[in-house]
Amino acid sequence: FSSAPSPQSNSTEENGFKGHGMLAPFTAGWQSSDVHPLIIDRSEGSYVYDNNGNKYLDSLAGLWCTALGGSEPRLVKAATDQLNKLPFYHSFWNRTTKPTLDLADDLLSMFTARKMGKAFFTNSGSEANDSQVKLVWYYNNALGRPDKKKFIARSKAYHGSTLISASLTGLPALHQKFDLPAPFVLHTDCPHYWRFHLPGETEEEFATRLANNLENLILKEGPETIAAFIAEPVMGAGGVIPPPKTYFDKVQAVVKKYDILFIVDEVITAFGRLGTMFGSDMYNIKPDLVTLAKALSSAYVPIGATLVSPEIADVIDSQSNKLGSFAHGFTYSGHPVACAVAIEALKIYRERNIPDHVKQIAPRFQEGTKAFAGSPIVGEIRGVGLILGTEFADNKSRDSPFPAEWGVGAIFGQECQKRGMLVRVAGDSIMMSPPLTITADEVDELVSIYGKAMKATE
Ligand code: PLP
Repeated sequence: FSSAPSPQSNSTEENGFKGHGMLAPFTAGWQSSDVHPLIIDRSEGSYVYDNNGNKYLDSLAGLWCTALGGSEPRLVKAATDQLNKLPFYHSFWNRTTKPTLDLADDLLSMFTARKMGKAFFTNSGSEANDSQVKLVWYYNNALGRPDKKKFIARSKAYHGSTLISASLTGLPALHQKFDLPAPFVLHTDCPHYWRFHLPGETEEEFATRLANNLENLILKEGPETIAAFIAEPVMGAGGVIPPPKTYFDKVQAVVKKYDILFIVDEVITAFGRLGTMFGSDMYNIKPDLVTLAKALSSAYVPIGATLVSPEIADVIDSQSNKLGSFAHGFTYSGHPVACAVAIEALKIYRERNIPDHVKQIAPRFQEGTKAFAGSPIVGEIRGVGLILGTEFADNKSRDSPFPAEWGVGAIFGQECQKRGMLVRVAGDSIMMSPPLTITADEVDELVSIYGKAMKATE
């Protein structure tokens, strides 16, 4: 997950990370002198520029997050107006700010896959998922079900990197050497059809087998011990893995049967990424809790949120009344500047009908890149809307990965970077999720660089 070297930059910084005091997140070898960070200096629309003035098409929108591109003046104005008026006030003990209240109402009105009850604010997706676990435990304790505490997540899921969210994450790199996952977290199958289907198995049959495996895990552990199931509509950092047909219908039926809450982690998929306002709209997911972050503010300022169903909100409200407090929150929960920016971002998603723009431009992006699926080094190209993963494999076979030391994904990443595009590299996969405002010409440029990098890597 994190071991692939970042493509070398042409940074003039001589000592790389070694000459600086930063312990770099998700970076290998930051102590060694040959690892040089690419220093990004400014952004404009779908492009970023490094400190030498080199321009790159940002095919990952930062980290799947600058949904409105890197220079949206309305977001900058929303931030500066709020900074000038009230840079901070907290939301503890019956005090709060107007943008905080307004953003909660906006989110509840925008999420229509099912009615949600309340929004709780955090600073990141990781904190939001940590909060989900605490909210669910609090809820089950209030209902007198102290044993119903385990969480089921999926192999290859990404839910964050704090202790609890890294436990929910299903990537070994986030567990190794960290003594994780925590014992209350179980992992079930990754729904990656290409990699894991049995010979002759259809997508629907694969989905049925995974739902049966989930049910068997629940029965083995005891349904009375399982609190919640968490899933991304399309897996992101695990390699961009859209669900097989009928998957979400089947797993939702299983968790419902055993009174297990469904948490949808929409940190990447919300606000139009798939061509619908939320991933839940696309896959008919009716969650009990929703996790949001990233595009919530188009990443201009950090903010995350959890939405909880009216039933959960009611139980938490009456319990906290009894106890005298709901003792969970962060200094910056509902930070007014972050909320003001998020309110403006949500306005823009609706006014410009961003999900429709994605729906219209997605075929150009999906079909353009998938035209290279015949390459001898490509195992699978997969995606939906404006999110795409490319997995390299020798002989196009899922059973013959390239030797890790060849670093095929990293080579492809370097070939893109040389040609003016940044992609996300993870082992033998590369991933893209450009700003949702990307234009047709920019998609054509992205596809052209992708194709040239593919040829060069072959
Ligand atoms: N959930 C998902 C689906 C994510 O993709 C991420 C980050 O990539 C997170 C949670 C964690 O968010 P953050 O990095 O803001 O803590």
